Amino acid sequence: MKDSSEVPEGITRGEVPGAMAVRFDVVIVGGGHTGLFLAAVLARHGFEVALVEPMPPEPTAPPHDGRNLALLRSTYEIARRYDLWSHIGRVAAAVDTVVVRERPGGAQVVYRARELDGHPFAWGVEHAALRNALLDAFRVRLGAGRWYVTRFAGFHREDGAVVVRLEDGRALRAKLLVGCDGRGSRVRTAAGIALDRWTYDQAALAFVVAHERPHRHTIHEWLRPGGPLALLPLPGRQSGITWVEPQARARALAALAPEELLRRLSLESEGVLGELQLTSEVGVWPLAAQHARRYVAPRVALVGDAAHGVHPIHAQGFNMAVADIEALARTLVEARRLGRDIGLSDVLIRYERARRPANTQRIWMTDTLARIFSAELPLLQPLRSGILQLLATVGPLRRLAAARGMAVS
Ligand SMILES: Cc1cc2nc3c(=O)[nH]c(=O)nc-3n(C[C@H](O)[C@H](O)[C@H](O)COP(=O)(O)OP(=O)(O)OC[C@H]3O[C@@H](n4cnc5c(N)ncnc54)[C@H](O)[C@@H]3O)c2cc1C
Repeated sequence: MKDSSEVPEGITRGEVPGAMAVRFDVVIVGGGHTGLFLAAVLARHGFEVALVEPMPPEPTAPPHDGRNLALLRSTYEIARRYDLWSHIGRVAAAVDTVVVRERPGGAQVVYRARELDGHPFAWGVEHAALRNALLDAFRVRLGAGRWYVTRFAGFHREDGAVVVRLEDGRALRAKLLVGCDGRGSRVRTAAGIALDRWTYDQAALAFVVAHERPHRHTIHEWLRPGGPLALLPLPGRQSGITWVEPQARARALAALAPEELLRRLSLESEGVLGELQLTSEVGVWPLAAQHARRYVAPRVALVGDAAHGVHPIHAQGFNMAVADIEALARTLVEARRLGRDIGLSDVLIRYERARRPANTQRIWMTDTLARIFSAELPLLQPLRSGILQLLATVGPLRRLAAARGMAVS
C-alpha cells in the first residue's frame, strides 16, 4: 500500500513518468463488468487500484443495447461476500423456476428452487443496469480520481514494477497489470499470450421486452435446432431475450420491423408472456468461443473475457469472470500476507492453476451443449429429447443438474 505522502510535488497521484516510484498496487485495463467488479473487490482488500477505460464513469440509461445476463448463485454468493450485492440486488430479478423445452420433439423439464434449498437459482439483470450498479460501487470505494479515461497502449517491466503506457501519453507504475479488456484484449497481445478461438456460424439477438403477463420469476428456454431461445426475468414486467439463430437468419430477424419481430417471438415462445413491447435496441452478437493459453505472464494477469469467451447457451461468461476475480483476489491477499511481491510469476501461477482447468471444463461443456442442442442434424433430435425426458423423470439427476448449473466452479 502506498502512502500519498510519497507523491512528489507537482505530480498527481498515478500520473508519473516511467522512472518514478510505484504508485499503485494494481492497474486494471478495462472498465466493463469484470474490471469494475475486480476493482471493487481489490479496493475492499485495501489494494491501491487504478482503472483505465475509454468510456467515462457515467451511468447509461437502461435498457440499452439489449444484452441481459443471468447471474448464477455462485456470483450472488461472491458479490455478497464483498458487499456488492447491495448495489446489484437493486437491479436484479430472482429466478426460482427454469422451464426447458425441446423442439421439435416437445420434451420438457422443469427445475424448481423448492426441489433444492428454496433459494433462487439465478438473477436476471440488464447489461447497462449491472454496469451502473458496479459504477456506484466503484465510486463509493475508489472515487472518480482512480479512473483514467483513455486506452491502454502498451507496457514494459522495470525495477520490480510494470509501467503501463496510456494512449493519452501518461504512464502508470504498478506491481501488477490486469487485463479485463474483453475478447480482443490488447493486454493479452502485448503480453505475448496466445489464444485458441473457434466460431459457431450462429448469432444471438439480444433485446428487452415489456410484457402483459408477469414472468413469475421463471426462465423459459426453448432448445431449438437453429439455437436456443431464452426469456430471462428482469425487475418489473420486463424480460431479457437471448435468441440464437444461424447468422443469416439472425440478421434477417434483426432487420424486421419491431411489431413483426415481436410477433415471431410470441410464436416461438408460445405466448407465455402475453402481449409484448420492445424497450431496447436489438443487438446482434456473432457467436465464437476462445481461450487464452495462459492467464498470466510476469506482472500480468488476464481476467474475464480477456481470458475466455463462451457460447451463451448456459449463461456462463460473466459468472466465470466473477469466479476468476475471487481466485485472483485470494492469490494476491495470500501473497501480501506472506510479504511477497504480488507481480511475481510464482505468485500469479496460483491464480492460473485455480481457474484455467475449471474454465476449460466449462468451455467444453458449453461447447458440447451448444453442438448437441442447436445442431440442425435430425439424427440428434432423439438424443436431445432423451436427455430432457431423463432429467424430467429422474429427480436426483434433475437436482444434480440444477445444482451444477448454479455455479461455475
Ligand atoms: C448475447 C450474449 C448473452 C450473454 N449472456 C450471459 C449470461 O446470461 N450470463 C453471463 O454470465 N454472461 C453472459 N454473456 C457474457 C457476458 O456478457 C460477458 O462475459 C461479460 O460481459 C464480459 O465482461 P468483460 O468486462 O470481461 O468484457 P467486456 O464487456 O468486453 O469489457 C471490456 C472493457 O474493456 C474496455 N477496453 C477494451 N480495450 C481497451 C483498451 N485498449 N484500453 C482500455 N480499455 C479497453 C472496453 O471499453 C470495455 O469496457 C453473454 C454474452 C452475450 C454476447
